[in-house]
Amino acid sequence: STTPLAELIASIAVDIPDFPEPGVVFRDLTPVFADASAFRQVAEALAGSVLEDPRGAALRTGPDDPGFDVVVGVEARGFLLAAAVAVVAGTGVVPVRKAGKLPRSTVSADYTLEYGTATLELHTDSITPGQRVLVVDDVLATGGTLEAAIGLVERVGGVVTSVSVVIELPALGGRQRVAPHTVHALWTT
Ligand code: AMP
Repeated sequence: STTPLAELIASIAVDIPDFPEPGVVFRDLTPVFADASAFRQVAEALAGSVLEDPRGAALRTGPDDPGFDVVVGVEARGFLLAAAVAVVAGTGVVPVRKAGKLPRSTVSADYTLEYGTATLELHTDSITPGQRVLVVDDVLATGGTLEAAIGLVERVGGVVTSVSVVIELPALGGRQRVAPHTVHALWTT
């Protein structure tokens, strides 16, 4: 099933064959970020996706509660989305960064990429134990990035209420890797 927003994203995002390497079709969302109306709709839909998550909905305290206390975004495109979602929802935003960028005490997670490994970090004190966290990123591919980010949030005591992305590439199995967390995708392609 498709939605008007999925169709809008599909009409604005640009597919780049063989970037960054042969065989990969890169989904470039920067034109969606640059479009004022589309960007706002994406931010609102990512914020609202928490209400569709049984876990997020169950932890809601009232009609004005977005269902999360903080948004975590993964470097670098996740930062743009997370900041917009946080402003829409009236929450703060916390960055998950690549190794060596965060200046204070961190927890870190190694994860596998299609070729090789990488490390993500989170400031240990950036989330208060028990805080409800929405984790966002632009594209769900193999799920390794989101799995690592979720693990970091949980290690510092955060409660992941929802995981939301703009684009899901289901052929790569990311949804299974992130389970039992449910991924909300605005466009599955
Ligand atoms: P993965 O860990 O495999 O789910 O990869 C997710 C991360 O890599 C996300 O942060 C995406 O920004 C990026 N990524 C992976 N595949 C693509 C793709 N085909 N197009 C754009 N970004 C991608």
